Amino acid sequence: MDTAEIRKYLSEVLHPAKGDKDIVSLGMVDRVVVDGNRVEVTLGFPKHRDPLAEYLIGSARAALVRNCPKGTDIEVRTVVKDEAPKKKAGLDLGVEELSSVRHIIGIASGKGGVGKSTVAVNLAVALARMGYRVGLADADVYGPSVPKMTDTEDAVPDAIREGEKDIILPIEKYGVKWMSIGYFANPDQALIWRGPMACNALKQMILQVRWGELDFLLIDMPPGTGDIHISLVHDIPMEGAVIVTTPQAVALADVEKGVNMFRNDSVRKPVIGLVENMAWFTPEELPQNRYYIFGQGGGERMAAKYGIPVLGQIPIVQSIREGGDEGQPAALSSRPDGVAFAELAARLADALA
Ligand code: ADP
Repeated sequence: MDTAEIRKYLSEVLHPAKGDKDIVSLGMVDRVVVDGNRVEVTLGFPKHRDPLAEYLIGSARAALVRNCPKGTDIEVRTVVKDEAPKKKAGLDLGVEELSSVRHIIGIASGKGGVGKSTVAVNLAVALARMGYRVGLADADVYGPSVPKMTDTEDAVPDAIREGEKDIILPIEKYGVKWMSIGYFANPDQALIWRGPMACNALKQMILQVRWGELDFLLIDMPPGTGDIHISLVHDIPMEGAVIVTTPQAVALADVEKGVNMFRNDSVRKPVIGLVENMAWFTPEELPQNRYYIFGQGGGERMAAKYGIPVLGQIPIVQSIREGGDEGQPAALSSRPDGVAFAELAARLADALA
């Protein structure tokens, strides 16, 4: 018996999860030692507790018993192979580009449509107007809104090659560095991105960007709570999250899910505060009047329940919606809605000081 013979016998063992390729051509046979009538085979597995390990060990042993002379002493062992070289060939993302960012904050919401992106964009502009160096990564894969809200829909980010890596340069406008999945795909395409593909694209869009020195990097997270969120929070060194809600009971119930997600054992990130958006309606011609069309005090009750501060209340006003549609964020103005975002920015900066 020689090692080539043993490998031939082992090639009878098919891997049921790999399109029935055999374990030799899959490169799983790490080592074969033949010593007299003793055969020692080591199978390499990419991870600990591989669910198929037992099955494949049994099949390899059976193949050897079938083919080797009677009385051969057969041992099949396993080793966990480091997957690192494989990863290098694909995405090689470190956090170097974030090393000069002081505060990385996720802007989240329990559900869509509460104004999360509106708040994120205006908060970024308001912080920049206060003199902070600010970036915003629009990671809302289901509806990237930064290009529209900043009137940069036609912008195409430049990239520079550094060694093995392409580094993307953010788009600069209104004193903020912007990056969005929307610069790379039209909105219809973004909708079909799911699971790992979306996760990788998002991480790349945050980790491969030349942010430079920043005081704040806001991450406009996808709405809701799910695998993408957990994965983002794991891989991006976020300091904490700001949760945007509206005062209605349904939106607040979703906030609970959001808060629980960040406080979950596997995530454990602080929720820095709540922003109550559409807190009241103020008609343009009656700036002193407040109509609590979605109810009053919901955000405060929720904040008290979880011990989280309300960082700001933003009224529902036409100019905020128009600002979003026209790419002129309301935070650029000195109107009451602009002031509401400036106050929010000041409280967030205070909370992190
Ligand atoms: P989300 O990111 O939570 O899905 P968006 O920020 O896209 O929500 O906002 C949804 C819509 O509501 C947009 O048309 C936006 O302009 C509008 N909107 C958000 N906040 C306000 C507000 N405070 N006043 C008026 N319109 C708003």
